[in-house]
Amino acid sequence: MNVRRLVVIAVAGFVVVVAIVIASGGVAPGSVPGLPVAQPANGVAVQAGAPLPMLQDIDPEDLDPARDIPGIPPVALAPPGGAVVQANGIRIPKPVMPSGPRRIGIQVGHWMTDQVPAELGTRITFQTGTSWAGVQEVDVNMDVAQRIKAQLTARGYIVDLIPTTVPVGYLADVFLALHADGDGTGENSGFKLAHGSRRGPYEENLVAQLRDEYAKLTGLPNDFEHTTRNMTAYFAFNWGRYQHAAAAHTPAAILEMGYLSNDHDRDLLVNRADGVATAIVNGLQRFLDDVPRSKIFGEDLIVPPQRSFPSPSPRP
Ligand SMILES: [Zn+2]
Repeated sequence: MNVRRLVVIAVAGFVVVVAIVIASGGVAPGSVPGLPVAQPANGVAVQAGAPLPMLQDIDPEDLDPARDIPGIPPVALAPPGGAVVQANGIRIPKPVMPSGPRRIGIQVGHWMTDQVPAELGTRITFQTGTSWAGVQEVDVNMDVAQRIKAQLTARGYIVDLIPTTVPVGYLADVFLALHADGDGTGENSGFKLAHGSRRGPYEENLVAQLRDEYAKLTGLPNDFEHTTRNMTAYFAFNWGRYQHAAAAHTPAAILEMGYLSNDHDRDLLVNRADGVATAIVNGLQRFLDDVPRSKIFGEDLIVPPQRSFPSPSPRP
């Protein structure tokens, strides 16, 4: 499939979806607390779960035959609260400004993965996490998450420990997914951080603050060259595909804390878990100090439709 043909098809799709939305009246239900009904000031409202005129990120491992046109990635769906299709792209309305203490979601990687809803499909069900020398990843993730929760709660924050299934349209001041790696050899060492795409503007900041504090306190190298599509296209970031995802406004990141398959990394994660938790808490604290709630939830997000098209391959 050449890129120009794909773009032509996608643009045609945009026109068709706009026409369908206009014909159907396009009423957004806004059924999730904190997420407003999309108001089409100068565009067309698309209700939650209805198709948006843009494509999903391409993930070769993740094509869903039930939804795909052969060779074309699946279309995106409007998130809880709906979206507005307008001339310059897709507008995600800002949420109702939350009140009270700031809220932090810590997702425990692979926790209750057998209980995911149908929309998350079977691929995730099989992702049970890594293990090495009798240590299960989900147990390490849970141990560190509980220590993070204790430390942040003591600082006055509200902390949700979140299983594989993210609450529908999850809204928080920050969301962090915890995982640990395995390479099957014991050679690799280090941590990795990533955020998704087509989301709010503060996620690079979140990753930077976590990276600095985590490197400083754990002494682990930044293993960024092994960052994968499984991280940048992580399902919990993908509001355009799953209703059970972090809301587009929620600053979100994923941290691979180290390699369970590496003796040094595993010792750190198992025997010095409180220090690991402190490193993460300090990074989250720096982000929260730097980016106030009024910024995170203060503006609608505009997702340009062309950002979802594959980048052209370099010309020879
Ligand atoms: Zn994992």
